[in-house]
Amino acid sequence: MPPGMTIGSPEGPPPPWQEIHRAVLSTLDALASSTGWIPTAATVGIEPLFERVLQQVCEPHGVTPGAYIDLITKDTGMRREVQKRLSKLMEHPGLVAMRREAQRREAEHQLYVLRYVISGEEPPDWVWTSIDEAQQAQLRDAAESGEERDPVLTPRVQHALRKLAEAPSTYGECEDCGTTILLERLQIVPWAECCAACQRKREGTPDVPPEPQVPVTYF
Ligand SMILES: [Zn+2]
Repeated sequence: MPPGMTIGSPEGPPPPWQEIHRAVLSTLDALASSTGWIPTAATVGIEPLFERVLQQVCEPHGVTPGAYIDLITKDTGMRREVQKRLSKLMEHPGLVAMRREAQRREAEHQLYVLRYVISGEEPPDWVWTSIDEAQQAQLRDAAESGEERDPVLTPRVQHALRKLAEAPSTYGECEDCGTTILLERLQIVPWAECCAACQRKREGTPDVPPEPQVPVTYF
């Protein structure tokens, strides 16, 4: 290549997109059959992992991950091939189990804090010491003022905490139909006893179409 010419520049040869694309796919396939990436993905999601794959593959070819993303955004076939593999990673049983486990710990923390505010019952030390002093003071004020007392929510929170302590695997399972409650629902309603559909039945509200599964949205 003559000096001053770079791959992908208007006067240079086009980047070997097919080769790059195949390398991205095979790297994602290799990940799907390994497990080392799971702990990281469980905490930060698969986006950073995907970005790293793109960097690894694109940089040696002198193209940016952004240029590759632009390309596959315009090409439905290529995009589907990538999305299919990302979905497979997101649905990896090891990742799902680890995300559930992380979510249970987070929910337990949230529920103890909430219970303190709505009932005045103090959270255990491991929860209390993980909170910074400014927030501790705020929570103490709220708990001691009694303004947030909630006799309806408190038993539901207690019930969820009991499940987490005594039978953690049942936490996040719908008590009415047995399906796994979406993580997104548990993050918002950590005391949920039921999936959204059964909750609506309990409340006597009309049914709406099922909640969509979490989409893989990079594009
Ligand atoms: Zn249900």
